[in-house]
Amino acid sequence: MKNRFSVSAKLCAAALVALLAACAPGMPGSTYNLGEARVKLVAYHDDGAYMRDFARVDANALDYITRRAPQVKKPAIVLDVDETSLSNWPQLQANGLDLEVKGPCSLPKGPCGFHAWAQRSADKPLQPTLDLFRAARKTGVTVFFITGRDETVRAATEKNLHLAGYRGWKKLILRPAHSKTPSAADYKVPERAKIEKMGYTIIANVGDQPSDLAGGHAERAYLVPNPFYRIP
Ligand SMILES: [Mg+2]
Repeated sequence: MKNRFSVSAKLCAAALVALLAACAPGMPGSTYNLGEARVKLVAYHDDGAYMRDFARVDANALDYITRRAPQVKKPAIVLDVDETSLSNWPQLQANGLDLEVKGPCSLPKGPCGFHAWAQRSADKPLQPTLDLFRAARKTGVTVFFITGRDETVRAATEKNLHLAGYRGWKKLILRPAHSKTPSAADYKVPERAKIEKMGYTIIANVGDQPSDLAGGHAERAYLVPNPFYRIP
């Protein structure tokens, strides 16, 4: 009897350990480690793999855009801004890839709040998207930017796009000041629908977040890599 109880207790204990492991994969003893992940992500960015993966997605998008644009009446594309058209890498790196940093921006060591950083208009272009933008414009495609940034940084963002080389776009669509929705898609999908109501066919939508692309209103959606942060 004692033995049977003991075996049963051991089985229960084993089951409990397995359950805890399944429910809490990030607990000590797992393979996840924030410091190691950060080192790997910086290496992914710095060794060129990030830009190679990024360029591959934009090349696929451009291939479709150039084939499809002549077939529709008012061809348009939608581009996201951050980590799609412009890179915030100096700010991200200064913050140890922590997206929640607020306040003033001190570089290169950080901390560097996003709003203060955006006001500098200092983002560099992500070259594959700038190349895509220019090629699309040459084929007569209208370009809209839809960004999760809000109206408080409109002037700085317009200036930054211009300085980065994006010239000849139709409209920069930003969130109303300080607005928030559970998902960026809640705000971006209706904005794409408005573009369609203006008579455009959105043949491609390019973004770095699944929430940039969810909800349709584009013939094709292209997700450029961003393993550094996630916007719901
Ligand atoms: Mg983005």
